[in-house]
Amino acid sequence: MEFIEWYPRGYGVAFRVKRKILEEQSQYQKIEVYETEGFGKLLALDGTVQLVTEGEKSYHEPLVHPVMLAHPNPRRILVIGGGDGGTLREVLRHEEVEEAIMVEIDKKVIEVSAEYIGIDEGLLKKLMKGECERAKLIIGDGVEFLKQNKGFDVIIVDSTDPVGPAEMLFSEEFYRMAYEALNSPGIYVTQAGSVYLFTDELTGAYKRMKRVFDNVYYYSFPVIGYASPWAFLVGVKGDVDFEEVDIDRAKRLKLEYYDPENHKSLFQMPKYIREELQRL
Ligand code: SAM
Repeated sequence: MEFIEWYPRGYGVAFRVKRKILEEQSQYQKIEVYETEGFGKLLALDGTVQLVTEGEKSYHEPLVHPVMLAHPNPRRILVIGGGDGGTLREVLRHEEVEEAIMVEIDKKVIEVSAEYIGIDEGLLKKLMKGECERAKLIIGDGVEFLKQNKGFDVIIVDSTDPVGPAEMLFSEEFYRMAYEALNSPGIYVTQAGSVYLFTDELTGAYKRMKRVFDNVYYYSFPVIGYASPWAFLVGVKGDVDFEEVDIDRAKRLKLEYYDPENHKSLFQMPKYIREELQRL
């Protein structure tokens, strides 16, 4: 038995699976959990792989730590999406964090992840009971939340791809709200899809971010379970040099995938993307 995620143009990423653990339709999306043969459990939303438990750090580390280590003092953090708990888990590893807020639209993803995925190290159940000292969970739309809340040092968008409830998270209007909600200095990061299969979405988002943030950066990372390499986009407000990360703070984290010593090597852009962005 296989689980296959179909990307555009008939490109697929397949896993051999031992069994299907769960299939449920929530208000927002179809949630599936499988036990794979070689990569632990797999969480899929509307047929797209969100993570495999054996390899998920290859996504959560490069999403979270570059911006956290580039910010001089990341104390108040907002995570939008991230219902599996992996992003918040990595955020809370930074001692500087005083308050982290996670806004996830789909409560069912949180419940399923807490029960069947388990990468959150017990965090999600505590959050649901309001028992987490430095973190808070809000069930709601990240867009609505940002209209009314400001004062973040770092905003991390760990959303599904730009369709359905996540579409607005890639709009210029949303980037403007995020810019307003950031302190200065402040940093925004979003996952931005497969480098070679979602090129138009990526260059479109880059272009819109350029119109809003003081500086915009692209980087990519080979993520286990996705059509790799995967793109990330960073928007900076004020005086932050995203090309430099704090190596001393990084050493305390004992990272497995993201290598701060080679931070700048992630900025390499394939020629066709560079040329496309230069045209913008
Ligand atoms: N790493 C994943 C990926 O890129 O495949 C993303 C993981 S996380 C499970 C994505 C979450 O974003 C989903 O649980 C989804 O419900 C949530 N989401 C989508 N749109 C949202 C919005 N507008 N506000 C808050 N959460 C949202």
